Amino acid sequence: MSNQDHEIIFQDALGRLDVAGKYAEIDQETIQRMQHPIQIIQVAIPVRMDDGSLKIFPGYRVRHDATRGPTKGGIRFHPEVNLEEVKALSLWMTCKCAVMDIPYGGAKGGVIVNPKELSPLELERLSRGFIERIADFIGPDTDIPAPDVYTNERIMGWMMNEYSTIVRKHSPDVITGKPIALGGSLGRSAATGRGAYHCVKQLEKKRGWNPKEVTVAVQGFGNAGQSVAELLHADGYRIVAVSDSKGGIYREEGFDVPSLMHAKNESRELKAVYCEGSVCEAVDAKTISNEELLELDVDILIPAALQDAITEDNAEKISARVIVEVANGPVTIEADAILDRKEDLIIVPDILANAGGVTVSYFEWVQNRAGDYWTEEKVNHRLEENMCKQFEHVYELMEEHRVSMRTAAYVLALNRIGAAVMATGTSA
Ligand code: GLU
Repeated sequence: MSNQDHEIIFQDALGRLDVAGKYAEIDQETIQRMQHPIQIIQVAIPVRMDDGSLKIFPGYRVRHDATRGPTKGGIRFHPEVNLEEVKALSLWMTCKCAVMDIPYGGAKGGVIVNPKELSPLELERLSRGFIERIADFIGPDTDIPAPDVYTNERIMGWMMNEYSTIVRKHSPDVITGKPIALGGSLGRSAATGRGAYHCVKQLEKKRGWNPKEVTVAVQGFGNAGQSVAELLHADGYRIVAVSDSKGGIYREEGFDVPSLMHAKNESRELKAVYCEGSVCEAVDAKTISNEELLELDVDILIPAALQDAITEDNAEKISARVIVEVANGPVTIEADAILDRKEDLIIVPDILANAGGVTVSYFEWVQNRAGDYWTEEKVNHRLEENMCKQFEHVYELMEEHRVSMRTAAYVLALNRIGAAVMATGTSA
């Protein structure tokens, strides 16, 4: 990707705000504020490698907007992380927290690294090193990180521990998505998939679907992809295709999702963080590429991998009737324009469909601050309640303004951000 391509990512994200701005109760000045993250931190993290050499990893933390509360958002470890992408992801977090009406602004972090090439000890040094670099800018009342692509609860545990050491105070509420043993919340690891599942269930009610007749393809069989597939499968939905970074598999009669998960995760060794098998190697089924999976003639397509899965190059070939965006930004703005022309296609946008994760992150933070821990039933119940409520808000706005569900979600977000800006006074 060239630098120019990178810049487009954030511009794309802003483009969606502009579209929604026409319908939202928000003034131009607030939109203007949203175009500029409040703080961009760029760091270099030196890591002593196991062979004695030194490697420097670049990283970022972008705090986008803090009007509605402390900023919130994950940290991703990926070789293709770049600043413009992190800026776009931070803006989406601001909107996501507003859509869910949880009292946070948005942020995001990223480190340019291929974590699969690091040993567990190198990974731990990198995770602690990143926190050492950004410690002055994060905190339970300022900015609260969480997991994202290729980071997990183990890494959150190291990061929380490092922050606590730096500030000399046990601080579980500085980071969410932690291991249960360190103050993590029950239900957090499945929350992103569970939130997306509730979106599908809401649509099921509206459309009168019989789950047994509904086919589903899931691109990206990681944490969120697995959870949503598992829940839908348990309800009778036919999961006909899944894929991961190494490729995909297809079976017309549908897969038994628990055994797929078992096959995928089986080779994960106790000590290695990223040692995992691939679905296509583990299961005997027709193999397909990720591109083919996206173009399958299925009822529901769930992109649950990275951004830009559906672009102007393949948008025309998408045959699904429903797209549930479990990944952040899987459909580009150009692809959106093409998909918009397909009558009867509905896209449940990322800032709603994958918001279950940050919602339970909020519950985790609330539990950490209260020192009072909830049962998994309570977590799941509160998540379901809020997902269904906000889904309905978005759906109503979609019908009222006759816009896409994405635009409606942004309108809801902008209305709430606008109200907060007005309430704080507009002089600053
Ligand atoms: N990384 C997740 C997201 O994109 C979760 C963020 C959080 O829990 O703060 O929504």
